[in-house]
Amino acid sequence: MKNSKLTSFMPKIVIGSLVASLALTCMPFPKGADQAIAAASRSSQSFAKFMQMNAPSRTVKTVGGIQTVTNLSSTVVLVNKQRNLPSTYVPKDLVVPNVPFSFSGPSPKKQLRKIAANALEDLFAAAKKDGIELKAVSGYRSYATQKSIFERNASIKGEAVANKTSARPGQSEHQTGLSMDISSASVGYALEQSFGSTKEGKWLKANAHKYGFIIRYGKGKEKLTGYSYEPWHVRYVGVYIAGEITRQNLTLEQYLQKSI
Ligand SMILES: [Zn+2]
Repeated sequence: MKNSKLTSFMPKIVIGSLVASLALTCMPFPKGADQAIAAASRSSQSFAKFMQMNAPSRTVKTVGGIQTVTNLSSTVVLVNKQRNLPSTYVPKDLVVPNVPFSFSGPSPKKQLRKIAANALEDLFAAAKKDGIELKAVSGYRSYATQKSIFERNASIKGEAVANKTSARPGQSEHQTGLSMDISSASVGYALEQSFGSTKEGKWLKANAHKYGFIIRYGKGKEKLTGYSYEPWHVRYVGVYIAGEITRQNLTLEQYLQKSI
């Protein structure tokens, strides 16, 4: 993990304990302690402001009768069945992460936004170090691609089933460039719930948050996310927030609601 990729936000609890420990153990404060407290306080304030600015209630407007998100390029942008990305949205900083893919040759779906691509490289490197072989399967997806996927699924499975397993165009996290589907040889690189029971799927669940990712559609969270359990789909939200969501076993929806 490179320092530059760590979130600069410091949780209030850290500041609280820093102040408390300094007050208890260091009288008078050591040189620089007041600056450290001031910096921590500034971080805390900017984190609170960041969360406030990204509150679900503040980041949606109706455009042509469609509930459309306004914080498109935020790392905590909330896209779901109630909150659409505009059909024209394409992230500006898409790159191909240097990780193994389940297929060869160039493809737009190899891309992620730069911040998520860097984090994914760190995630895959850590997995490899632990003897876990992951492969990336599908990342960025344009509105038009999602439209054809949903329409194909709906024609095969019927619209109700398609709606639980695939997103309607504009409602896919893959359009944010912050999500990647990951799988392993042990399930033939399939995107299936059985991946969650493999050693690779278990490793991913236990470690994704350390690199800023969450398992976005968790087990038992179908009612909250609108999607079946997807142990293969990770979403970048940043290290601190991913840690909190994982530790508290929340969905992104719940976390963003809670934090305002
Ligand atoms: Zn996915």
